[in-house]
Amino acid sequence: MNAFSSYPTGISLSEDHRLEIEWSDGVCSRIPYKILRDNCPCAHCREAERNPKPEELLPVISSAEAQPLIVQDMKPLGNYAYTIAFSDGHDTGIYKLELLRLLGDAVAEAES
Ligand SMILES: [Zn+2]
Repeated sequence: MNAFSSYPTGISLSEDHRLEIEWSDGVCSRIPYKILRDNCPCAHCREAERNPKPEELLPVISSAEAQPLIVQDMKPLGNYAYTIAFSDGHDTGIYKLELLRLLGDAVAEAES
């Protein structure tokens, strides 16, 4: 069925603003909140990435962005994904386990 068979055995939010996931195969992912947010899989974020608005050519810092971005809430969705609510008010992303693991592996790769 699903080639991805690892599942989280432990999940926590670290003090250095990372999501920490212990996987059933012994791997530990430590994903910075910003990377989670930047990779939000929801249709709105993917659309914004493809079609940046012209006014976004000039950088603007909104009040939400001026605050440190944190994860406010994280809930399991079925047994295959998590929904994550960020402090900028965004909470529509559905992070499948495969995506979380992919991001975790990419972070580990980049920091090794
Ligand atoms: Zn999104």
